[in-house]
Amino acid sequence: MARTHAYGLSDVGRSRNRNEDHFSIEDDGRLSIVADGMGGHGHGELASRLAVKAILSFLEAPPAGGARAAEQRSRLLETAFLAAHERLLEEVAGNSSLLGMGTTAVVLAVDGDAATVAHVGDSRAYRWRDGRLELLTEDHSWVNEQVRAGFLSEDQARSHPLKNVVTRALGGDAEIQVDLSEFDSRPDDVYLLCSDGLTTMLRDEEIAERLVEVADRPLEEACARLVKDANDRGGLDNITVVLVAIEE
Ligand code: CA
Repeated sequence: MARTHAYGLSDVGRSRNRNEDHFSIEDDGRLSIVADGMGGHGHGELASRLAVKAILSFLEAPPAGGARAAEQRSRLLETAFLAAHERLLEEVAGNSSLLGMGTTAVVLAVDGDAATVAHVGDSRAYRWRDGRLELLTEDHSWVNEQVRAGFLSEDQARSHPLKNVVTRALGGDAEIQVDLSEFDSRPDDVYLLCSDGLTTMLRDEEIAERLVEVADRPLEEACARLVKDANDRGGLDNITVVLVAIEE
């Protein structure tokens, strides 16, 4: 059984009035979620909150099944995402003023020496190992499609006017496709889940530099440092960071 330690911080940033991000850390970080809601009039707040709640309540009472093979862990997370998606569609169906609300979600589940990541949208998961920061997710965003096609550089994508356009979201189109990946997990690995309010303000190399600087400090300080730096850069969006350290 892996021992984990986790901390998270969410900040409204410097230019938004509301914080539409939502995060949750369960069981000392064995299960962590970051969601970044969208939709006017505070509906993004509702979307991210409802999605986190729906994912958690699904995972609290998962369908019966004994073994916890990788495929089953992934399938469980996928089904939890689909349940959250349905929950949002149901909310919109009952109140048409909510039309257009949706949310990203990234989930990290640590189980022994395995880590499963599920995501939809442009919230990200990274793994910090041996002084290297590795991106574990692929943004479902319009700008990322342009980067992959060679039309935009990473830097251009980060400041592009359409950088907030996600191509997949819970509560979005009727069909949803969840990305799932399984990783090996080792002591001293640190996972970072974050909303795009961090990654549009700081490049991956800059996040890595901060993590080096706070390597021996408590996770609380590392989270505060990342949020502060994103705010110092302008804090144009809500900023959410969750750090999960694998201890042994
Ligand atoms: Ca955002």
